[in-house]
Amino acid sequence: MILEIFSRNSGKLVGRSGDITPDVIFINTEEPPNVGTKIILEFRLPGRAIPIIAYCEVKSVSKSTNLEQPSVIEVRFLAINEADRKKIEEYLRQDLNVEVDSDTHTLVDFVNISDPDLFAKTIPFRGYIDDYKKKGYYIYRKFLLSPSNNRALMFDEITGRKKEIIMMGNSNYLGLASHPKVIEAAKKAIQKYGSGPVGSPLHTGSYEVHKMLESKLAEMKGCEDAMTFSSGYSANLGCISTLVRKGDCAVIDRLSHASIIDGCALSSGAFRTFKHSDMESLRRVLDDSDKKYNGKLIIVDGVYSTGGDIAPIPDIVEVAREYNAKVMVDDAHATGVVGHMGKGTINHFGMDGKVDIIMGTLSKALAGVGGFVTSTNEVINYLRHYARSAFFSASIPPSVAASVLTAIELMETEPERHENLWKNINYIKDNLKALGFRLADTQSALISIIVGDDLLAKKMSKRIFEEGVYISVFPYPAVPRGQERLRLSIIATHTQKDLDRALEIFEKVGKEFHILDQHETNGIAPDFAA
Ligand code: PMP
Repeated sequence: MILEIFSRNSGKLVGRSGDITPDVIFINTEEPPNVGTKIILEFRLPGRAIPIIAYCEVKSVSKSTNLEQPSVIEVRFLAINEADRKKIEEYLRQDLNVEVDSDTHTLVDFVNISDPDLFAKTIPFRGYIDDYKKKGYYIYRKFLLSPSNNRALMFDEITGRKKEIIMMGNSNYLGLASHPKVIEAAKKAIQKYGSGPVGSPLHTGSYEVHKMLESKLAEMKGCEDAMTFSSGYSANLGCISTLVRKGDCAVIDRLSHASIIDGCALSSGAFRTFKHSDMESLRRVLDDSDKKYNGKLIIVDGVYSTGGDIAPIPDIVEVAREYNAKVMVDDAHATGVVGHMGKGTINHFGMDGKVDIIMGTLSKALAGVGGFVTSTNEVINYLRHYARSAFFSASIPPSVAASVLTAIELMETEPERHENLWKNINYIKDNLKALGFRLADTQSALISIIVGDDLLAKKMSKRIFEEGVYISVFPYPAVPRGQERLRLSIIATHTQKDLDRALEIFEKVGKEFHILDQHETNGIAPDFAA
């Protein structure tokens, strides 16, 4: 086991444990103190209310000469209770010995383990994650030490190393998250309004800047009004569960985002699914639902997150009108990307004002955090007073509202960002195809390389990361079996050098795993689409 060790005086992290002997402990650290420094260390062992304290002296320092390698200090124990020291040693040496082969298991295996001890399921799962990490496939939770732009500096907890990577895993589509004007807007708003909203939207958490942002979002989406939520996830939860009530039915695409599915689960109404972007299937479900339910809400993603494809909105609206159903579109991955200057999916089809509800997130191209819903004045007024995920939760901070407002203004005044995004998307897509990768049929900034095997996806993402590109990996159950994929998100600030270097790496790794010379697909697994 590895333990984080703290300074008793400052409370700050000194580093992470290495080996321990009766006399010394080795610590991997970013900021090595000088030899001879006296220091009181605090060891916070899990399950112990009181930390173990040791008075120590730095005996030797081996400074790292390389950004990716931490320095190591050897620390002599001057005063420590021997029983306590043994406890630390026992903890560091302990191996709970639950071996689970991560190659042959998936997340699904640890969901329904029923045991009188409620926490029993967490033990084999830890073994699974430990094995995942040991094999080097675990590319999650790598902490960023810099802004997440076209490049980023990451800290890898497993190796204890820093690494500069080409970032193809974020949603900073227009590269606005570190734009000086966006940052300045947040700073000014903090000075003006304070750091947090300290209230929920209906009570004391709505500031004038929230109102300005909501008007801007409504204008961008061609709707009468808008309201914000603390996340895109809670926007879907609140909107769907409030509108679809007992006797009603939500009809959703099978590849809908988890927050749409969870919104349906929370609703007192029913929900049905139709085959991905298949209008015949949608009609069949509506035909059947017509007799059984009252109000019907069709919900689709504007851009699907696993395939990057766009929902056929004109067809969906036409079918909806036939059955007197309302239409809601989740524009999380479309805002800033598709449509004129990134206005979204509805604008992309020239249908502004023709869709009943548009939901979106502030956390992707708009470079903040939070979600929103736009619709008519009446619908928004209703949601403001009934959507529990909004009024039982704090508003987004005023500083975030201000920075998102500036991000939208930049979208409107600097169209070259959007143009560059599309230049980058087309460049990478064309070149990946030319190299022979099998791509999902994307029409957005999300480009999925289908590798069709869980272990292969993990191995490839590991190698790609080692070579210096961060991408997302979608193993089962995130996608159906046979559709496991690697997903690249392309952003406006990727430079030609970033794209060419990334392509070189994809080609190298693609060759290593013999997956080149494949063909394009619509990205839908037959069993999932059935
Ligand atoms: N909808 C879709 C399609 C998404 O991809 C996401 C985020 N991944 C959300 C909703 C939730 O947005 P947020 O991160 O703001 O909660």
